[in-house]
Amino acid sequence: MAGEPITLTELASKDVSILTRVGPKKLDGLRSMGISSLLDLLTHYPRRYLDRTREARIAELQAGEEALVLGRVTSVSSRRVKGGRVMVSAEVRDDSGRLRCTFFNQPWRERQLGATAVDVAVFGRVELFKGQRQMTNPVVDLVGDRTGRVVPIYPQSDAARLTTWEIAGWVAETLRRCGPRGIADPVPAAILERWDLEPRGAAMWGIHAPEHLGDVQRARHRLVFDELLRIQLALVRRKKEMERSSAGIAHAESADPGRAGLVERFVAGLPYPLTAAQERAVAEIGADMARPAPMHRLLQGDVGAGKTVVAVAMLLTAVQSGHQGALMAPTEVLAEQHAAGVRTLLEGFGLDDPASLLGERPLEVALLTGRTPAAERRRVLAGLADGSIPLVVGTHALLSEGVGFAALGAVVIDEQHRFGVEQRAALRAAGPGERVPDVLVMTATPIPRTAAMTVYGDLDVTVLDELPPGRTPIATSVAHHPEDEDAAWELVRAEVAAGRRAYVVCPLVEGSDKMEAASAAETLERLAEGPLAGLRLGLLHGRMKSDDKADVMERFRHGTVDVLVATTVIEVGVDVPEATVMVVLDADRFGIAQLHQLRGRVGRGGHAGHCVLVAHGVLNPDAGERLDALARTTDGFELAEVDLDLRGEGTVMGERQKGRNDLRLASLRRDREWVLRAREAAEELVGDGTGLERHPALVEELSLLDESDEEFLLKS
Ligand code: ADP
Ligand code: MG
Repeated sequence: MAGEPITLTELASKDVSILTRVGPKKLDGLRSMGISSLLDLLTHYPRRYLDRTREARIAELQAGEEALVLGRVTSVSSRRVKGGRVMVSAEVRDDSGRLRCTFFNQPWRERQLGATAVDVAVFGRVELFKGQRQMTNPVVDLVGDRTGRVVPIYPQSDAARLTTWEIAGWVAETLRRCGPRGIADPVPAAILERWDLEPRGAAMWGIHAPEHLGDVQRARHRLVFDELLRIQLALVRRKKEMERSSAGIAHAESADPGRAGLVERFVAGLPYPLTAAQERAVAEIGADMARPAPMHRLLQGDVGAGKTVVAVAMLLTAVQSGHQGALMAPTEVLAEQHAAGVRTLLEGFGLDDPASLLGERPLEVALLTGRTPAAERRRVLAGLADGSIPLVVGTHALLSEGVGFAALGAVVIDEQHRFGVEQRAALRAAGPGERVPDVLVMTATPIPRTAAMTVYGDLDVTVLDELPPGRTPIATSVAHHPEDEDAAWELVRAEVAAGRRAYVVCPLVEGSDKMEAASAAETLERLAEGPLAGLRLGLLHGRMKSDDKADVMERFRHGTVDVLVATTVIEVGVDVPEATVMVVLDADRFGIAQLHQLRGRVGRGGHAGHCVLVAHGVLNPDAGERLDALARTTDGFELAEVDLDLRGEGTVMGERQKGRNDLRLASLRRDREWVLRAREAAEELVGDGTGLERHPALVEELSLLDESDEEFLLKS
């Protein structure tokens, strides 16, 4: 075995204590930084690099410029200044001159820089003070007596009391000791060649001990690819396994003439032609459903992109093949609305029935929620169980005990972020011998494609990237000043006077529903007595009884309420075509996706929509950028990219615990193209599901994936 190249799993099995100068104290320090194995050490990548060819000489520094200086600390002192603050002062010299570095409120600098003859890299803005060059609070890295033109700077931790050069030393030792055997590379050469990737061993050297900064970039690509490939392999493998292990339904047009051609008739009967994107989606879903493997697909489409039509086409594909379809919504209000919408779409539409006098029996769309009266509930349950009800819309009540289907063939889940993992799993879990229905998850929260591939990696993704024609984009403005807000209320009054309706979204209240409800009630009162006096206002929040909610929604829909003052319960799906204005209070507290979702509630009926984002006072820069982005564009995917840029991975990766994390180098943001490449490679390698049998070394590496991460990725 000794001659074989070293694998990552072997490195993971070797403890850092085998390295020289790693005694018990250093070992504790390393462990506290999450480094216990040689693999941990090798994947503790430099935070940045000092390029010594670019360093400045102290004597040549100009006041006002930013510069990087390498030198030796020659003296350190500290004293208290006004207000009790500690000021540490250090002198740094190179062979051309000296530079004073002053640190405020960093008392630990005295200890850090006080050791004898510390070599440091100092980066900061140069000032001149009484003829002396100095920097205030510069960035300082201890570099030790490293030679070489490019010096890696490692993330270090004060608590662990390990310096970057100690870490660099251990990394170098590890690489040297790997030397004779080399580091194994399990990725097939053809894949490496395709993207001009260097061997893994070279990449390890390149990232830790580069000769030129250019080496780092090349090494980084290879290592980023490796990280992403592992994740994609796990996801694609899981997806294929699921397809192979559960039996789905190969939906084919039924021979029953009553059911044949249902989808075609439905599409032909719509008052408008499908958009190209809808057509593509319907075709993709149809093709997928015709295959025997269960479909598991995500339909992403911006608000108003026309997902409902696609969903109904899917449900009818199941009915057409003699099965039943179900649509699940996250709330009762939404379920009712969907039921009404689907019924309208299917109005006058029936299953041919030669046995009936009229030659057709209506295609029933049943509704089942927690509020369905007992008698109706019994009737629906019986109809679902004997198959006489082909379509049902409901909340998660559809998943409750006692709901059985004669032949469930298709399930659409709307707005999946409101559904828990277990609920999705429950749908997938079929009894022995049962066939798993095809599942379509719809979301109006666009996430960038590459992120979707990582987060929903076990789902296929269909994107509706086109709005139906004639839609006027929602004009969005930001109200910073009280006058702007007054103008917003004027706009509300004008639209109401013209027979239209408005939403006012109340400030988000952290804490409890109860506080949020109270604040919504207060907002209503303030508006009713002030800027919206005389208009008919209605209140909607999460603490209300569902009957009351439905009641106020109904009145808003019918126009006996002009302005709906609501919390974010209206975020999802509420559809009142006459609503043309939305005013969001304290909009800076909301996220981009949420605001985009919210404003999608207006301007759905052909009249231009307006959205005013009210945000008073000084905003933090991120909030400012968020609101500006919303005012600038209505393209949900563009906004999703902005969101990813502003918030980073956290947005899409959810709340992952800090620390261990499979993405050490890769960033879903910066490395978008590598996500696509890794996905492509993973699909190629997994093939029909058995492909990985030929790559045991790659499979072995999958065991290195952080289990909690994997669970997160596969289940979210
Ligand atoms: P989403 O659920 O994606 O937000 P909906 O399915 O509610 O969007 O559709 C929004 C509106 O667009 C509906 O009023 C619907 O009737 C209309 N619509 C859908 N598809 C088309 C189309 N191809 N052409 C014109 N209007 C369409
Ligand atoms: Mg919708």
